[in-house]
Parts: sequence; structure tokens; C-alpha cells
Amino acid sequence: MNHLATASARNSVPVSGAAVAARRPVNALTIDVEDYFQVSAFAPYIARSEWDSRECRVERNVDVILGLLDRHGVSATFFTLGWIAERYPALVRRIVAEGHELASHGYGHHRATDQARDVFADDILRAKKVLEDLSGHEVIGYRAPSFSVCERNLWAFDCMADAGYRYSSSVYPIRHDHYGMPDSPRFAHEVRAGLVEVPVTTVRLFERNFPVGGGGYFRLMPYVLSRWLLRRVNRDDGSPAIFYFHPWEVDPGQPRVAGIDARTRFRHYLNLDRMQARLDALLGDFAWGRVDRVYAIRAADETALA
Ligand SMILES: [Zn+2]
Repeated sequence: MNHLATASARNSVPVSGAAVAARRPVNALTIDVEDYFQVSAFAPYIARSEWDSRECRVERNVDVILGLLDRHGVSATFFTLGWIAERYPALVRRIVAEGHELASHGYGHHRATDQARDVFADDILRAKKVLEDLSGHEVIGYRAPSFSVCERNLWAFDCMADAGYRYSSSVYPIRHDHYGMPDSPRFAHEVRAGLVEVPVTTVRLFERNFPVGGGGYFRLMPYVLSRWLLRRVNRDDGSPAIFYFHPWEVDPGQPRVAGIDARTRFRHYLNLDRMQARLDALLGDFAWGRVDRVYAIRAADETALA
């Protein structure tokens, strides 16, 4: 057992009583607000210097998502890039005005594993300030791009705590070629004093963790299988699930990136045309809420910026 798992056993964060008692546990719904050209898998093909000249689709796609959430009466957490927030301040304000939680996805979508500690610390602090200045609300949640917190950069948790974040959702406890920390705890646990890690949901089968918390896997699997696995987490683990997706996943008409390898192409474009209908079913079949409320994580001073 690694030290993180030990810490988890000692410091497990209890799920809110209301969520446990409810017949339908409230799960956490999250959206990583970035555009298609900022996806980490495209980094070898699209230079950062090209970002400003690419057709931006994020505003339109977030509108689609906000409409979907509104129809289901669901509030969610939007992990938003500082880069996007600066260019689309109205989008940030609309997310907050419609009752959703604004959280941070860092400023420039660098993987934490590619950054030196001081550069990472600057990036997450800059994003927090941009989002707070635009929204007027304290931002307490952070998600590392591509779930890039792993055994070799656990200092990232120290940086998050220092920056004033109260929770992180930066670990995917699976084996994957781009990310993952398979031996990390599967559920919310305190990683530093005052900082909770809320890992994206996995299901335990055949003594291994399988991803069931969204992204490409949700587009790959038949919906009924995703639903069965998520229900298993709610029922057998007695825990809320945390699910994530991206605005570009509801946009089958997005510009195609040329010259990419077959695996990246498969992962990015698979079943984009089915995503909206699947999300519609998912929102109807389960109860959903914002991360801060599902896990009862509060800002240090909730009135400070109100
Ligand atoms: Zn991302």
C-alpha cells in the first residue's frame, strides 16, 4: 500500500449524509472547459502559437451543455482554463449565473508532469485569480490537465494547497498510456491538510480499476454498460460517482485536425454524434450536482468575495 492509500484510510472524507441517505445518491458532474485544439493528445500537431488563429467552438458548445443541464435541472462543476476565461468572460459569468460551480483547469493546459514545480505553481495561481476576478466568487476546485498528477509529482498537491484550493480532481486511478495512478485510492480522501482529492470514478472488477467516469470511455462503451457500472459504484461502493466530459465532445461538426495518428483520431472523434443523446440519458437516469456540494467542501471564507 502506498502512502497515499494509507493517508486515505486514515483521513477518508465522509460523503455528505444526505447523499448516502438518498435513494438516488447524488453524483458529481464535471465539465473540463477547453477547446478541441487544446486537447493534450493534439499537442504534437497544433502549436500553442496557433491557438489564437483556430476557429473557437467552446462558447457555442458550453451553451449546448448549459441548455442540457437546464432541461434536467442539474447543476455541475466547470473546470475552466484561464486561457478560455480571459477570452470569453461572458461564458464564465453565464456558468456562474446559472448556478454552477466555477473551478480551475489551470491557465494554459500544460500537463503537470511537463512542468517544473514553480511553473506549475504560477499557472494554477494565475488561473485562480483570473477566474475569481471575472466571477467575483472564490474558486476552490482544481483539475490538472489530463489527470497529470502521479507518483512523481505529488508536490503538485502542496502547490494547490498553497494557492488556496480546497479540492483537486486530478487523479485517475487507472493504467493508461497518458495518465493514471492505479494504486491511488478510488474515492475522495484528504491528501494535504485542508485539500481533498476527488478522483474520477472507476469500477473495481477482477482486482483492477476500470474507468467509468467519462471521457473517451463513455463514448466507446454502449450507454447501458456505463449505466450499469455507475449504478454498481453507487450501490456496491455506497459512494457518489464523479463523471467528466468536454465541450468539444458534444460537437460532431468541429473542424477535423489533419495528419494525426490513428489512435488519437479514434479516441477523439469516436461517437461524437451520439454524445448529446447519451448525456441526456445519463442526466435522466442519475441524480447530479456540483463537486463542492456533493462532497460538502467549503471555501475558506465563503463571504470573502461575495
Ligand atoms: Zn483538459
